[in-house]
Amino acid sequence: MSLIVQKFGGTSVASISHIENVARRILKTRDAGHEVVVVVSAMGHETDRLDDLAREIGITPEMHREVDALLSTGEQVTTALLSMVLTKMGCPARSYTGGQVKILTDSAHTRARILEIDEEKLRADIGEGIIPVVAGFQGVDARGDITTLGRGGSDTTAVALAAALTADECQIYTDVDGVYTTDPRVVEGARCLERITFEEMLELASLGSRVLHTRAVEFASKYQVPLRVLSSFRDVPGTLITREDESGMEQPVISGIAFTRDEAKLTVLGVSDIPGIASRILGPISDANIEVDMIVQNVAADNSTDFTFTVGRNDYDQARKILDQVAREIDAREVSGDNKIAKLSLVGVGMRSHAGVASRMFRTLSEESINIQMISTSEIKISVVIAEKYLELAVRALHSAFDLAGEEE
Ligand code: ADP
Ligand code: ASP
Ligand code: MG
Repeated sequence: MSLIVQKFGGTSVASISHIENVARRILKTRDAGHEVVVVVSAMGHETDRLDDLAREIGITPEMHREVDALLSTGEQVTTALLSMVLTKMGCPARSYTGGQVKILTDSAHTRARILEIDEEKLRADIGEGIIPVVAGFQGVDARGDITTLGRGGSDTTAVALAAALTADECQIYTDVDGVYTTDPRVVEGARCLERITFEEMLELASLGSRVLHTRAVEFASKYQVPLRVLSSFRDVPGTLITREDESGMEQPVISGIAFTRDEAKLTVLGVSDIPGIASRILGPISDANIEVDMIVQNVAADNSTDFTFTVGRNDYDQARKILDQVAREIDAREVSGDNKIAKLSLVGVGMRSHAGVASRMFRTLSEESINIQMISTSEIKISVVIAEKYLELAVRALHSAFDLAGEEE
């Protein structure tokens, strides 16, 4: 007998008939002789709806505690509904909020981190043959206040529970068959991967592939939780996330393409090329808790330079205001910005041992007349910033240039 944590995402619990489908899947696992702990997301677009309501009021940092109280309600609904459906099907089940389990987090509202999980109640239920159904995405801090883990955070709840319970597998059920070479909703020929390494999955997740929450991959890697992504709707084996040394075959050069529209670009034009300028520009940005992603500085002949960086699109207006002030202080010529950009990244552990990936990427984009605005690289990824309107064209062109559809196409 093994212990399996099963997590079902928003689309998978979007209606009562969807929830009944989920319940049948859980019962099938239990009837095969396994112990099951369940984690659920909110129904469909419920978290978006709640978030829109909060934005209508206007969210300021001092409201973050209340935003968490609001957003966490979506998951409470689905835990109760699923437990009721399971009970009706003759299987005792019990719903839990994060606070009831005691998923202890820090107090960083809207992006809290899990510190500790009290698994006692869950173990007791399992022992009595009751299926615990836990609300994803939420926890409770030391003061007893409700916290949330950041959008997409139910995956992290599931992996953290699997780690705490030393489960045999954590299964993330979603609305596609597994992890693909790129978002299958954008590239029709995207291929579902049988396996992918933790390292690659971590890059893909943090570079914008929504299919797994970044922290979930980090957790699974750190605590060696066997992690699988699979479909709520179809009986397919899905994708296993593995360690590189377990993955068996020779690694492809590129495993996947990730992209995000969540960024914006800011440039301070005509700043003096002298020591200390980068910190004069970025200091106030970081003081405002705005995260900076890519940074580029050009050197011009007349000792004046342009300084460009990207921030999250939600932080764009605030960052621009700060920069207007900074530009006056350091006597820069002007500030310009663009929030219609996208970041696209190629990821693959095979890049370590293969040259020529960047040149092929740049050639492919130039053949489509797509201008590259910024570039950044690390050992297993290359990212470029391009105009948002070319994003889908670029992803399709690169997917085919690197033959990611493979022979199965
Ligand atoms: P859930 O509600 O089940 O957590 P999400 O919407 O968070 O589902 O994540 C699944 C979605 O991730 C898919 O519908 C797909 O559009 C998107 N996605 C982006 N990149 C990938 C990828 N490489 N492989 C699979 N899905 C991806
Ligand atoms: N319901 C939350 C969200 O939409 C958490 C999740 O689904 O993982 O972000
Ligand atoms: Mg998700």
